[in-house]
Amino acid sequence: MSERRYKFWGWGYEDQIPESGEAEATVARVSEITGVRPRAEMRWPAIDRVTLPDPRVQPPSVLAGIASTDAHDRAAHTYGKSFPDYVRAFDHDFECAPDLVMWPRHERDVVAVLDWASDVNVAVIPFGGGSSVVGGVEPSVGEGFAGAVSMDLRKLNRVTDVNVADRAAHIEAGALGPVLERQLKPHGLTLRHFPQSFEFSTLGGWIATRSGGHFATLQTHIEDSIESLRVVSPRGTLETRRLPGSGAGPSPDRLFAGSEGALGIITSAWMRVVPRPVHRRSAAVWFKQFLDAANAARGVVQAGLWPANCRVIDAEEARLTGVGDGSRHLLVLGFENANHRVDSWMEEALQCTADFSGISDESSGDAPNRSGATGSWRDAFMGAPYVRETLIAHGLIVDAVETAITWDRFPEFHRAVRDSIGEAILRVTGVPGHVTCRFTHVYADGPAPYFTFHAKAPKGGAIQAWRAIKAAASEALLAAGGTITHHHAVGRDHMPWYTKQRPALFGYALAAAKKELDPAGILNPGVLIGNGS
Ligand SMILES: Cc1cc2nc3c(=O)[nH]c(=O)nc-3n(C[C@H](O)[C@H](O)[C@H](O)COP(=O)(O)OP(=O)(O)OC[C@H]3O[C@@H](n4cnc5c(N)ncnc54)[C@H](O)[C@@H]3O)c2cc1C
Repeated sequence: MSERRYKFWGWGYEDQIPESGEAEATVARVSEITGVRPRAEMRWPAIDRVTLPDPRVQPPSVLAGIASTDAHDRAAHTYGKSFPDYVRAFDHDFECAPDLVMWPRHERDVVAVLDWASDVNVAVIPFGGGSSVVGGVEPSVGEGFAGAVSMDLRKLNRVTDVNVADRAAHIEAGALGPVLERQLKPHGLTLRHFPQSFEFSTLGGWIATRSGGHFATLQTHIEDSIESLRVVSPRGTLETRRLPGSGAGPSPDRLFAGSEGALGIITSAWMRVVPRPVHRRSAAVWFKQFLDAANAARGVVQAGLWPANCRVIDAEEARLTGVGDGSRHLLVLGFENANHRVDSWMEEALQCTADFSGISDESSGDAPNRSGATGSWRDAFMGAPYVRETLIAHGLIVDAVETAITWDRFPEFHRAVRDSIGEAILRVTGVPGHVTCRFTHVYADGPAPYFTFHAKAPKGGAIQAWRAIKAAASEALLAAGGTITHHHAVGRDHMPWYTKQRPALFGYALAAAKKELDPAGILNPGVLIGNGS
């Protein structure tokens, strides 16, 4: 039986392509709501229409068994899943493909690849699931290298130890979300880190990007679940100490969490895991005013209730995802626990939302809620990656900027960022676009807003138009006091704004750390640490 292959250009497996009628229906529905008109023609990319540059390097014989120059393999490791990644793939442009793809089977293979690459000046791009939306896995490394290798870690995918007493598990970094959850399930445990990209992203990728997962409050980012890490760098291998907490200087785990493959390759981690929840309540609460919904979310977290789900979705986004009619804003609330009933928490949270005129139209008991507005929103959320690529294929610019801001600045911030995206769309495409906002995560001191936009892609100028919109949004959110990313990471796309945002001295310290760990600078060049800073 032949192996099910991933698409070389998009989300999921090759067989996961919508039927033509289904694709057209999706496009028509989104077009009607957003007012953005699609292009009629479309064709999915085909590998026999891709011309790849000849590999500039060959693997040494000791690494030949884990190296691949197969065209599908090289194409599938050229891009992540950002808008410009899709556009170039649809154009069959794979000019920056890696020369080789390496598939380490053990940590010692990772060491051997780094030793060889350091010796022959070949750049190494760590690759987990390739779901980066910020240019994190693209082997565009410039002229200074003899070649570029994409190192795919997905064969390092085992849960090798489970410590039930400590509620911790030792997991190899290349395990995809479902792969690691399947291995934890027989122990009654779960990592419970479910980014929207869960199905096709890895533990190592999550740690390297400080991904944001299932929990909308408290343990929002993956690093909150790290107990210890094992990292291979060109200078050697290090492992941090397994501890429930430590005040011994700056945390080495925190240095590598968010290091985006620029400081070392994370090969495994001890992760804090939890029993699977059995008690659940969820509710959809509707508001006439967006700021009332935002303030209700603030009220809930500031009351110390810490729901697992606490997502404000503006009226237009609720309409777009099919959960509302566009007249009311939605707050999705969810509580879960393995040991205690959560009804009283939900009752208190609903009380907070009532203080801001929220109207709850449903709430359910212990079963995971798959019905009503909360269930519909969840289904739309999981299907969104497939919808997105269908829309891009039909000539729409579909993307998002995600950020965080304190509550005191939120109202002005929301207006400034939304307006700047809308104005930029009109300026560069000549027609109005569609901009919506939701909260992905909520803190006691502020929300993490996520602005989704739809615009018409000018024929032949889609990437330039996207770049201009993205730049306007990034400038606006930085000027209004936000962060260039709350959880999508920096990659190559956010570098100009990340460099502005971080203190210059911190940039130098990071560059010095890289020099120590990666003296030849072969690890993911151009990401996180620019030239000279
Ligand atoms: C549809 C969609 C939905 C998404 N939803 C979310 C979301 O809800 N939350 C969120 O946080 N992000 C989300 N993302 C972004 C992306 O999924 C995350 O950044 C994710 O953590 C990347 O994991 P990955 O395994 O795919 O890593 P990759 O994309 O393969 O790599 C990401 C970066 O990490 C580095 N890297 C990967 N593995 C390792 C390793 N073992 N050691 C060192 N460096 C490594 C790479 O070099 C690269 O710089 C989404 C993306 C898409 C396309």
